[in-house]
Amino acid sequence: MKIHEYQAKELFRKYNIPVPEGQVAFTPDEAVQVAQILKTKDNRYVVKAQIHAGGRGKGGGVKVVDSLDGVREAAKQIIGMQLVTHQTGPEGKKVKSVLVEEASSIARELYISIVLDRATARPVIMASQDGGMDIEEVAEKNPERIIKEFIHPVIGLQPYQARKIAYALNIPAEGMKDALKLITNLYKVFIEADCAMVEINPLVVTTDNRVFALDAKVDFDSNALFRHPDIVSYRDLDEEDPLEVEASRYNLNYIKLEGNVGCLVNGAGLAMATMDIIKQYGAAPANFLDVGGSATDEALENAFRILLSDETVEVVFINIFGGILRCDKLAEGVVKAARKLEMRLPLVIRMKGTNVDLGKQILADSGIQYAVEETLEAAASKVASFLKQPVA
Ligand code: GDP
Ligand code: MN
Repeated sequence: MKIHEYQAKELFRKYNIPVPEGQVAFTPDEAVQVAQILKTKDNRYVVKAQIHAGGRGKGGGVKVVDSLDGVREAAKQIIGMQLVTHQTGPEGKKVKSVLVEEASSIARELYISIVLDRATARPVIMASQDGGMDIEEVAEKNPERIIKEFIHPVIGLQPYQARKIAYALNIPAEGMKDALKLITNLYKVFIEADCAMVEINPLVVTTDNRVFALDAKVDFDSNALFRHPDIVSYRDLDEEDPLEVEASRYNLNYIKLEGNVGCLVNGAGLAMATMDIIKQYGAAPANFLDVGGSATDEALENAFRILLSDETVEVVFINIFGGILRCDKLAEGVVKAARKLEMRLPLVIRMKGTNVDLGKQILADSGIQYAVEETLEAAASKVASFLKQPVA
């Protein structure tokens, strides 16, 4: 689960990770009020679009201004805009709010983040002196400019490791104490809040050698959210895919994808295999959907409805292994849902497992239109044949 920068900075404050003074605003008037409260010495402020995507600076979503009028103008421009960045996709994201902060006098822009490294099964701290808006390019062209420090999950971050990172970042002596505290506390928040990622880009060194988080990005492990009701309250459903939000209401594992084959599968492994094989046959999945091992009629109906309300779906492919969910139960659920939702799209069904013959009989007797196939290959090929755009 992602959150906004202003929320991430609120979380950072609780962990004594220094961030600039500032507050969120939903209207230009509010933005000016926030600026008035901040009362900066030099009247310089920064107004930042709050969306769940990075790259805002390059997309025109971050503006440094030098007056209260400037704050109002910037907020007027940014709130309501459809902000397009390299992370939003071409359609962009509508901006609902801005973070208004005191502007900082930046001497250097650094980078630091923590993610879980699957290969070593350890948290890894990544850091670079080349932070700022071109970090992706650094990662691609000069990966040696990004250092990695792996943390033993039981022992935790050791002080020598924090020092190693700070030295690699060439932190000035005056800022060293703050930097070490920041690195230590960043690891603390990563572990305690069950984060999938924390990222500060840029981590800045100011002209007077202070070190703090100018930007803040946090992504939480959704499977651990039950432990963090305070963090769940940060969730912004407007930033998430509406179909994914609905699916999460019914505990369906659904992820929207780019293709046009609606896939209804039980078990994550089979769902992955299904996506792979239809790709091999030239079709592409419109979604990942695992209805789970013990899907009820209700879950099937909800799954169906979500698939069908996705306008990009041209074909529905049901691929089920009848284990806990028996094939006859599945067939009944499918027939019910297809009737109730007046399904008009081509439907391809492949099922195997417990009570498969009974399941097939139920489908055959139902009068609904569908194609049934025995093997995954034949089913995938059938699916591809139904696409409007013939595939190679
Ligand atoms: P992102 O583009 O979405 O990652 O947004 P950031 O918060 O990282 O801001 C983008 C860039 O705007 C930073 O890399 C800075 O160069 C610049 N910026 C942001 N805040 C300030 C500020 O207070 N003062 C100055 N001078 N530049 C800033
Ligand atoms: Mn940034």
